[in-house]
Amino acid sequence: MSADELVALVCCDLGAIVRGRALFSSALDARLTEGVGWVPANHALTPFGPIAEPNPFGATGDLRLTPDPTTRVRVGEDGASALHLILCDIVETDGSPWAACPRSFLRDTLALLDSELGARVMASFEHEFQLLLDAPAALPFSLEAQRRAEPFATRVMNSLVAAGVEPERFLAEYAAHQFEIPLAAAEGLASADRAVVFREVVREVARRLDARATFVPLLDPSEAGNGVHVHISLLDGGGGSLFYDSSRAGCLSELGGQFAAGVLRHARALSAFTAASPISAARLTPHRWSAGAVCLAERNREALLRIPPLVTLGEEDPERQLRLEYRGADATANPHLALATILRAGLEGIRERLPAPPILDRDPAELDAADAKRYGVGALPSTLQESLQALAEDDTARAWLGPLLYEAYVSVKQAEIDAASGRELEENCRRYAAIY
Ligand code: GLU
Ligand code: MG
Repeated sequence: MSADELVALVCCDLGAIVRGRALFSSALDARLTEGVGWVPANHALTPFGPIAEPNPFGATGDLRLTPDPTTRVRVGEDGASALHLILCDIVETDGSPWAACPRSFLRDTLALLDSELGARVMASFEHEFQLLLDAPAALPFSLEAQRRAEPFATRVMNSLVAAGVEPERFLAEYAAHQFEIPLAAAEGLASADRAVVFREVVREVARRLDARATFVPLLDPSEAGNGVHVHISLLDGGGGSLFYDSSRAGCLSELGGQFAAGVLRHARALSAFTAASPISAARLTPHRWSAGAVCLAERNREALLRIPPLVTLGEEDPERQLRLEYRGADATANPHLALATILRAGLEGIRERLPAPPILDRDPAELDAADAKRYGVGALPSTLQESLQALAEDDTARAWLGPLLYEAYVSVKQAEIDAASGRELEENCRRYAAIY
């Protein structure tokens, strides 16, 4: 590593844009505690560039970005301006957590699950993305599509290994030039940190090949979108699953059922954090294999919450595999906020001992009104404005964030809605593809 290499101290903001400041890596050790300066109004910046108005910050205040050295990532060859970054907490100048720091919000949420349930969270973020290419696309899932993606495919997988995010597979997905890379589950904060790092490494590897990778939720409204599926399980102190019970429907324990019920109860408010852009809801319509309805299902890709299959071939242990997959997120969502709010919703379900939701065994779009009621199937908001409205009306969900984080988040999202209004979906998809 050359002495004058830059290392970026960064955070992921409310619009899931990674921002920060870089310093010489030789100067890093002296900065590990005090970090670098930061400004509250940076968290009123919209993904389109301008600051959202009104916002709770104005021109006043000073913060610090303090690095978490465990998140340090360096990808690239010596002498070739490596991507070198460290994720940071946003703190006050005395080091106390800043009330609108998404990473601290997730940390607090994890602490609640630990103190109330003795639970540790394992999670992984499964991303889809597309390369922006003019060439005609090869067939979905085909070897041809994978081979045409070389040398990107091999380079990105190796760079992700170097970044420590444990990529498991590379696959060509359904839409044109669309790919998916699932990551191994990690504990708590690290799982969301991995999602932030993953996106930056994928973009970087494409950039070095003069290409662009986009995580836009929907590139072409006539095609499949790019989802982020969040897989979650809770473990007890000894590492046993709190979600697994082979005697129950779907092998989902009573506690797992309560968690699922909490997520479904708050699903409409949650979508303000997980389907976070004005184009996100257009991905979440029936028959896109994203999440067409608010319900729990097993092995069914139309449900917001899915129980993925338990593979009993070979030596696989079903208990270790049992997890809930939240399919309603995309990469316009800040991963820390998304995971934290899903966990808060699940925790509410556990606190209230909600009954396990029925497990839907068919296409939610085909149900008549009586069956929809029987299976507890509801609709997701059809716009971000509706999601924000659902959040405003859900006193419990609003209280998870605290007033500053709530106000800042809503101001950024409202500004985005205003900036996207009056334009066709296709145009907004193109605009978001240029940003994400
Ligand atoms: N592309 C789908 C989505 O938008 C997911 C397809 C799948 O991997 O099941 O979420
Ligand atoms: Mg997929």
